[in-house]
Amino acid sequence: MKLPLCPYCGARFLYPDVRKAQNENRGVCPHCGKIFRIFGRAGRFVLYAVSALLLIGINLCLMKLPSANLTVLLVVTILGVAVVRLLIPYTIRYGPL
Ligand SMILES: [Zn+2]
Repeated sequence: MKLPLCPYCGARFLYPDVRKAQNENRGVCPHCGKIFRIFGRAGRFVLYAVSALLLIGINLCLMKLPSANLTVLLVVTILGVAVVRLLIPYTIRYGPL
């Protein structure tokens, strides 16, 4: 998994820039000024699906521990969702219009 590159000039984008534009359809490259298409819904779907299965698996394992309670499971799930949200920019791709 890596951050997207400009499809025209190959410029790299910083994580905050990608994150800010992750729900947009179009973006402008600050290096070459060209407009590109933002996509990656498929990658995001795979990320959600894989992480949901992982979280369910982790929760099932935790439930077997004698010290586990609902708070522990909830915290683990919230942390997992937070991590997944941080990973979304890595599923974004930029393509030519
Ligand atoms: Zn560019």
